[in-house]
Amino acid sequence: MKKTIDIRSDTLTCPTEKMREVIANAEVGDDVFGEDPTVNKLQAMVAKILGKEAALFVVSGTMGNQTCISAHTIPGGEVICEYNSHIFNYEGGAPATLSGVQLHPLMGKRGIISASRIEAVIRPPDHHYPHSQLITLENTHNRGGGSVFPIEEMKAIYKLAQKNNLKVHLDGARLWHAAIATGISLQEYSRYCDSVTVCLSKGLGAPVGSVVAGSEDFIDKVHRYRKIFGGGMRQAGIIAAAGIYAIENHFERLHDDHRRAKELAVELNRLPGIIIDPEEVETNLVILKMEVSRHSPGEWCKKMKQEGILMFPFGEDRVRMVTHFHITDNDIDTVIDCFKKYW
Ligand SMILES: *Cc1c(COP(=O)(O)O)cnc(C)c1O
Repeated sequence: MKKTIDIRSDTLTCPTEKMREVIANAEVGDDVFGEDPTVNKLQAMVAKILGKEAALFVVSGTMGNQTCISAHTIPGGEVICEYNSHIFNYEGGAPATLSGVQLHPLMGKRGIISASRIEAVIRPPDHHYPHSQLITLENTHNRGGGSVFPIEEMKAIYKLAQKNNLKVHLDGARLWHAAIATGISLQEYSRYCDSVTVCLSKGLGAPVGSVVAGSEDFIDKVHRYRKIFGGGMRQAGIIAAAGIYAIENHFERLHDDHRRAKELAVELNRLPGIIIDPEEVETNLVILKMEVSRHSPGEWCKKMKQEGILMFPFGEDRVRMVTHFHITDNDIDTVIDCFKKYW
């Protein structure tokens, strides 16, 4: 049978045989009592990798971001974020529901916003205004096409935040990819934020979970919100083991995903009516713009599905593809061939 090439998302990866083995053999305990040795090991490991005092295993990236927003703010506050960010678009309006804060989105360029733009919207201390309390950044940026947030800009934003008594949270669901793409360490990226969320279930390929990191005091607060939001887990070592395995074995290989994404972009950009700047494909996301008079994204994705290739329509004139560890060089060739044949 022909293999389905599922290139819709890097969340589609399934645990490998080896990963299933470490899951089966994981040492476990009750993590609500703080007694799961595998969870504790994962948390210590991620805290170290990110250069933070402490870390906490959470169910999802959304729970990571939202527990941090709750821990950083008080109701009536305002969170400055980017217009296309995950926190603004894909977390169900959680900041209003769970933390009683409002979001102040700024339109960035491929998800990147500057310190000077942020400075212009920090509220003066006047009772009319919501209180600016937190800035959230996303690195790499999902809707920005996997763009890497420049470290110099992060540095400037962190400095601005400190000057104005604001906190910075980094949604680093794909921070792994930023580090691989630039060679800048995860620790260096985490230096310019007060808290950070990283996902284990995307490029790294673990089945479940994210980790939040920050200072000891901060993580203590996050721990309480995790409980309140229903995220206390018991023998979670079962899934934490997969996370440890993923970090140890699937981090460096992200280079391959990036190379394959770049190759897709270079080849598809040659086709008339498809626009994607290969220079802008910095990591594993490929979002191409298409001339809709030839094919609409929905219709194109249907056509590709008949050929056994799954991709996502992304807005009215775009299609998204994401490379991940089930996608091989051969698969990339097949995708390119299909575009050439049917476009
Ligand atoms: C996937 C993702 C998240 C978290 O998503 P969950 O489905 O809640 O794990 C957060 N931020 C970004 C940028 C993401 O891509």
